Amino acid sequence: MILQSKQPNIGTTIFTIMSKLATDCGALNLSQGFPNFDCSPKLAELVTHYLKKGMNQYAPMAGIQPLREVIAQKISDLYGVNYHPDIEVTILSGASEAIYCAITAVVHQDDEVILLEPCYDSYAPAIKLSGGIPVYVTLTPEDDYRIDWAMVKSKITERTKLIILNTPHNPTGTVLSQEDLMKLADIVRDTNIFLIGDEVYEHIIFDGREHWSLLRNSVLQERSFICGSFGKTFHVTGWKIGYCLAPKALTEELRKVHQWITFSTVTPIQYALADFLREPNNYLSIPMFYQQKRDKFLDCIKDSRFTYTPAHGSFFQCVNYKNITDENDYDLAIRLTREIGVASIPVSAFYNFKNDYKTLRFCFAKDDETLEKAGERLCKL
Ligand code: PMP
Ligand code: GLN
Repeated sequence: MILQSKQPNIGTTIFTIMSKLATDCGALNLSQGFPNFDCSPKLAELVTHYLKKGMNQYAPMAGIQPLREVIAQKISDLYGVNYHPDIEVTILSGASEAIYCAITAVVHQDDEVILLEPCYDSYAPAIKLSGGIPVYVTLTPEDDYRIDWAMVKSKITERTKLIILNTPHNPTGTVLSQEDLMKLADIVRDTNIFLIGDEVYEHIIFDGREHWSLLRNSVLQERSFICGSFGKTFHVTGWKIGYCLAPKALTEELRKVHQWITFSTVTPIQYALADFLREPNNYLSIPMFYQQKRDKFLDCIKDSRFTYTPAHGSFFQCVNYKNITDENDYDLAIRLTREIGVASIPVSAFYNFKNDYKTLRFCFAKDDETLEKAGERLCKL
């Protein structure tokens, strides 16, 4: 029997590789993006409560009503934009599923999708599985990963179907500004281009910055799938639960895909989140919590030879290691895991051609002791 692979050049993700190596070496794992601390006990109690109460059968395809309602209310309170909970809010199994469904819903054979690299690793394979073509705009640390909107515009063709944006950004920690949204709106106004806003780090944003969600600009909002993740916001990445906000016509197509992938998402957790989200402090406290983590990590590496711009958002800090070695970033990430017991992610993994800007990504969603130990080791380099 001959199996012709649909993804012949794909292995396991860099996150899987580095986390496994970290475990094998007993290293401090600052690679894959997940907290090493637990969620709020209240949230865990709510899940237990609904599990014991028998909320254990299929949820409705679009998600349970109370959760869709509370999300719509939160978005309206935070950004003054209204989504109808019945027809414009969908609960999915993580932002990963939301992004996959959105891509699959709109991308046809030979459609082009603009990606701003470095970018999250799931986008390009999903585009290709739908027969689409990723078109890259390359952002570099020399330019502080600033987006050259003229460059983005120059990549638009009559085949451009979709542009994917991620703010706050994994891996660089940059965030979009209101001006960025205006420039993007000038590009897509009067076109049939759709947008995905990967906004899983919405609440992990620092130094008083505002989250400029695509939905805050009406030209962008009417063509956007906004994808969120409760895993990121509430320290429960293993729960794989997220949502997508999109205007009715877009939501209809998204749900058609969703119903064939997972159909519906884990029921007791949906009920627990609906209750937990009713207390705004549960998410309004997140920026300061993670800002302290970022500051702690930066304090722990301040005497190192790494150079960096403090992350503006996300739970990642990128550092340049030119002052330490000229090894490529992949080799260095592997060596540091083995030799000093600190695992990171080489940022080349987020580029189509594995551009090596001598940059490593560290996840600072860790307890202070882990950050201190990692800092001590990194300062010796
Ligand atoms: N987008 C980005 C930028 C991410 O960092 C992640 C987290 N792995 C995801 C999407 C997927 O989120 P989830 O775990 O909710 O599927
Ligand atoms: N989003 C996580 C990261 O960037 C990884 C999730 C995964 O392992 N796919 O580290």
